[in-house]
Amino acid sequence: MYPEHSFKILILVLTFSLFQGDCVCQYSNKKQNGNYALVIHGGAGTIDKNNMDAATEKAYQDALNQALDAGEKILQSGGKSIDAVEAAIVVMENSPLFNAGKGAVFTFDGRNELDASIMSGVNQTAGAAGSVTTVKNPIKLARAIMEQSEHVMMIGKGAEEFAQRCNLEIVDPSYFYTERRWQSLKKVQQENKDSTALSEDEKGNKKNGTVGCVALDMYGNIVAGTSTGGMTNKRFQRLGDAPIIGAGTYADNATCGVSCTGHGEYFIRYTVARDVAALMEYKGWSLEKAANYIVNDKLVKKGGEGGLIALDKKGNVAMPFNSSGMYRGYAKKGERKVMIYK
Ligand code: ASP
Repeated sequence: MYPEHSFKILILVLTFSLFQGDCVCQYSNKKQNGNYALVIHGGAGTIDKNNMDAATEKAYQDALNQALDAGEKILQSGGKSIDAVEAAIVVMENSPLFNAGKGAVFTFDGRNELDASIMSGVNQTAGAAGSVTTVKNPIKLARAIMEQSEHVMMIGKGAEEFAQRCNLEIVDPSYFYTERRWQSLKKVQQENKDSTALSEDEKGNKKNGTVGCVALDMYGNIVAGTSTGGMTNKRFQRLGDAPIIGAGTYADNATCGVSCTGHGEYFIRYTVARDVAALMEYKGWSLEKAANYIVNDKLVKKGGEGGLIALDKKGNVAMPFNSSGMYRGYAKKGERKVMIYK
């Protein structure tokens, strides 16, 4: 065969697979045992019960339950894990309580720059968006990048242009303004103008508030997603781990799905999400052993504060964190829990 013929065939094959939207992210449609599981987080940090009034605590619990409701409804009725992850994260992105979407922290320049990623455990397809300022739900953009482009990651203006082409909801950057996060920026800048920080509330709780979700549907498919505003006072379009596949988000049907929250630089350096899966894959560790080792041993020794949520193909759930609290919860058939403190 002439080289130009094989080249043409290659182009044809590539074009064909690109336009098979479903093929890029193909799901098994065979129901396994009717089991499903869903786990979420709303960020880790210094979250002290003594600094939390009953109304605020209840507001967080309600928001976490609403996110679980949105995802569980889909899984219960035989829906796909990808739809459940998107639905649960959208609820948290739309809530001003969390550092993602509405409620995102401010940058050094007083902007809200949002990052998100999603990964399918079916065949390791993934999508990620960094530093966007006008996309109402960055998790939807991450999904669109995964399903409707040949790329994994887009950032800034380019990512926003792609969001428009995909007909995602675009908002004025002022939509993301919340007084609480603005005051938090002012406070951080008064203390040390050049440092990034976890956002601090009026009561002195320091937390990240990034959101994430991992779901296992009845077909055995695992999907993980993460969405964040990053760290207060970040500058130079700094990106954390949330939009980095393998750092903040990872999924593989054979092992587990993971979504992280914490001081992103550490999670990037130590490829936290992928490491949990790798310990299961190469060493045969259980989900719980792998997740605990990474968060409570390795990250602690390295100085990386935060936590993660994860679930494996059997629906076992792990939610380790090395800070004083992490907004978190899970739902399985006939079982639900929402927690904040250790
Ligand atoms: N991991 C996020 C980042 O470093 C922050 C967070 O989890 O809240 O951007």
